[in-house]
Amino acid sequence: MADELRIDCHLHLYETKAAGLREKETYEIWEYGPKQDVVFARFGGDIEDAEAAMAEAGYAHAVIANLFAIALLDEGLRSAAMHVQAERLRAFNRWACDVAATRGQLSVFVAVDPTVLGGDPGAAHLREMVERHGARGVKIHPVVQRFLPDDLRMHPIYQACIDLDIPVLSHSGSDRDGAAYAEPVAFAGLLRRFPDLNLVLAHLGGGAWRQTAAFAEAFPQVSFDLCEILAWAGAPNAPSAEELAKLILDVGPQRVMLGTDFPWYDLADTANRVMDLPLLSSEQKSQMLGANAARILRLPVTKRAEAR
Ligand SMILES: [Zn+2]
Repeated sequence: MADELRIDCHLHLYETKAAGLREKETYEIWEYGPKQDVVFARFGGDIEDAEAAMAEAGYAHAVIANLFAIALLDEGLRSAAMHVQAERLRAFNRWACDVAATRGQLSVFVAVDPTVLGGDPGAAHLREMVERHGARGVKIHPVVQRFLPDDLRMHPIYQACIDLDIPVLSHSGSDRDGAAYAEPVAFAGLLRRFPDLNLVLAHLGGGAWRQTAAFAEAFPQVSFDLCEILAWAGAPNAPSAEELAKLILDVGPQRVMLGTDFPWYDLADTANRVMDLPLLSSEQKSQMLGANAARILRLPVTKRAEAR
């Protein structure tokens, strides 16, 4: 039963259940080290699954934060020319906006990829998606997409986000070759250049979570989501539940939002894990379940979830 507002600020939507299941199988989550009892969702992640999962767990709203990366495409698609990839990216974003257009409980953060569609053309596409297709934010994944957050090709896109008054949700975490594409400190240069950007770092820094408290103090305009790191709490390179709660208190609980990374993690289990965190008050925890996301991301949440 959900009697408080529940919002998922970080959900992935797939065109088919099979596509979601395939990506769940191939996307390796290595950075926290091994953990046996991680609770994964049973879903593939198409729209039917997303709506069922939200209804089941009493979520009023969710943000579709889809990722487009050439590295994740099938081999045949990967080798296509860049203008073909750019058209694929545009079609992918239009599809997500079309799905959400008739469903008030979904908001779309469109995929941006500076290699495929960066610079002014990338910014123009973003403007079109926001102004004509109802998109409400941007999603990036510097590790899988192989770019540093302060990449020059991203600058017109960040400026468009500020002009359009929309947030950027970025993956954060470690990567294997030490390039540090998305550790919290990698976002410092970008935030000095674009201090008005409404930036959200997913996973509270992920495997680089020990940087997050100092980073959050230096950049009070940044907010965070809890997905993945919450499910992996207690793994060798993840914080324990107590360390995670301490980190949230250091950052400020009003800056932290629930995310599930659906169809990876279970929506009900994620909300329960938030409410089970030690050290935090139940008021702070219930704000993290939904109210913080509604405020920080300015989501059009029109009604509370029906109590079930
Ligand atoms: Zn994600």
